[in-house]
Amino acid sequence: MDLESSKLRRRLREAGLSDQVIDAAWPSWWSDDLAADPSGQAELRFALARKLGVSPRGLIGERVEFIWNDEARFKHLSTEDAAQRAALTSFGVTIGRSLIRGTPSPTPLDGFDAHLIRNAVLANQNYVDLGGLLALCWGVGIPVIHLRVFPLDTKSMHAMVVRVEDRYAILLGRDAGYPAPVAFTLAHELGHLVLGHLRDTPALVDLKDPATAPDRDDQEVEADEFALSLLTGRPDPEIATGNGSFNAPSLANAVTKAAPRYRIEPGTLALCVAHRTGAWSRAMAALKFIYGEPKQVWREVNDIAAEQIDWEQVGSESGDYLQNVMGTRA
Ligand SMILES: [Zn+2]
Repeated sequence: MDLESSKLRRRLREAGLSDQVIDAAWPSWWSDDLAADPSGQAELRFALARKLGVSPRGLIGERVEFIWNDEARFKHLSTEDAAQRAALTSFGVTIGRSLIRGTPSPTPLDGFDAHLIRNAVLANQNYVDLGGLLALCWGVGIPVIHLRVFPLDTKSMHAMVVRVEDRYAILLGRDAGYPAPVAFTLAHELGHLVLGHLRDTPALVDLKDPATAPDRDDQEVEADEFALSLLTGRPDPEIATGNGSFNAPSLANAVTKAAPRYRIEPGTLALCVAHRTGAWSRAMAALKFIYGEPKQVWREVNDIAAEQIDWEQVGSESGDYLQNVMGTRA
């Protein structure tokens, strides 16, 4: 790599950005010939600045400055410092803007609550599951993707909602081998959006798993209740587990039998039992008996996204970056 490019990379690294996000944003048109040309160097700086949400001036000067500096709302804030928060926000807002640009026909969810959304999904299928939630979100103009590239070296983000005026995008972070935990996260983020938690902020970041994080504020409790109402029909579902001495196979068996009666997807029902009893490891083990072998849930989410996005509207520069971030680039 030429001297100017490596200086640029070092500056971005010093600002806290991970190698993987710098690689994802690095333009595919970059070549050694361009490195020798000052206008090529300038074009590289502008392209990286646009994609990573940093000020292009900072890429020449001493200090890289993020455009969205500490304006997002962070949940379970403990370890991240201000620079990391700015890096995460700028990354998310830039991605969210591209996604919203490429997602036509918004249908506002004004006046909708968890029960109305649940009924809308149940009109087409037996359960409110991940597939049903994804179809609903895309149907009303809320893009949802699963991140495969993270802006910080520590993978410290569970999920994020980005707002651009009256439009929203949802970025899922933590990977899962089964759909139910991802469905819960998506329902929780949808809750933040519908409940107006982004009214005065461009982004809301759930750093930890909202289902198990100990330090929950009022908005977290509200978003959880919304998620449970949407997925199960009640904010605090009562699930009888008999004498409490269940194991993973017997739990899987019980929830699979009970699912049609309650119209609650079996994996979600198992997680509800964990929520109530604290038996998270047994519930997670039960998922294997419910679904069989684990699969790449992120791929299902992003295959749908890749089909739904109007790539022409996104544009080729942002489109390349988005495909890198989604892990869908051939
Ligand atoms: Zn949350």
